[in-house]
Amino acid sequence: MIKIAIAGPRGKMGQEAVKMVHAEESFELVAVIDRKFNGMLMSEAEGMEPLDIPVYTDMEECFQKEECDVLIDLTAPETGKKHMLTAFEYGVRPVVGTTGFTDEDIEELSQIAENKQLGAIIAPNFAIGAILMMKFSQIAAKYMPDVEIIEQHHDRKLDAPSGTAAKTARLISEVREAKQQGHPEETEQLEGSRGADFEGMRIHSVRLPGLVAHQEVIFGGEGQSLKVRHDSYNRTSFMPGVKLACEEVMKLDILVYGLEQIIE
Ligand code: NAP
Repeated sequence: MIKIAIAGPRGKMGQEAVKMVHAEESFELVAVIDRKFNGMLMSEAEGMEPLDIPVYTDMEECFQKEECDVLIDLTAPETGKKHMLTAFEYGVRPVVGTTGFTDEDIEELSQIAENKQLGAIIAPNFAIGAILMMKFSQIAAKYMPDVEIIEQHHDRKLDAPSGTAAKTARLISEVREAKQQGHPEETEQLEGSRGADFEGMRIHSVRLPGLVAHQEVIFGGEGQSLKVRHDSYNRTSFMPGVKLACEEVMKLDILVYGLEQIIE
């Protein structure tokens, strides 16, 4: 039985994670960490599932009182890193879906995990289809190095570009030489019109109500284009990946960044 605490249980992702962990026979939900409702049970807290599971606002107190193997973090950029550092201190393995980590954050957290020989997973996208989209894009970029990424998310998202777009660009850069795209003398009449520049690849972030999480990677070649597209229509699409990460993190003694590292 894997004992799990969840940070961000009232959030859109957190609510789905609570349902998934509660329903899974090999998982036990031991606590949730929220900004409100300290000392209450989830069943007494507005916006939470009717479960008799304790709510903590202080993660340290939670880990001191509850036996816990894994922390699932689905909160907000900045908070995810703080929560990971606390989990490491208490020997709890983090499974983090929160996005917005910098390369420096990942480097620093990887070092801590390695020193402590403790498993950890940060996955900017838990949807299996999105992992395949990234893998297919990496294959395509070898042959079609002119590429632009258009990611689309709901308008409550705090960070841009999305963790998935950044991760896709990083994976592509492993097989593609940095190169400038578009006309060498192009200018922007409106600042930002060409999107973010990642080694010459352009990343465009769309934010609109009604969207969940969508990404299209467009490759252009002479007389042809290739589009690799993934759509998450609702947040249940992420839960098989969260479940897999909770199982796999128990076998790891390092930090793994990206679910594609544990999916063959
Ligand atoms: P959301 O609906 O805004 O939920 C975030 C939750 O985190 C809220 O309940 C918020 O509480 C809580 N929170 C924020 N700071 C906290 C703190 N310091 N301590 C405890 N709880 C805190 O957002 P969401 O759509 O669920 O997304 C959550 C994160 O997952 C984001 O970073 C998002 O980009 C990411 N995400 C990842 C994937 C993936 O597959 N990896 C997929 C979708 C989203 P309040 O209500 O009090 O602010």
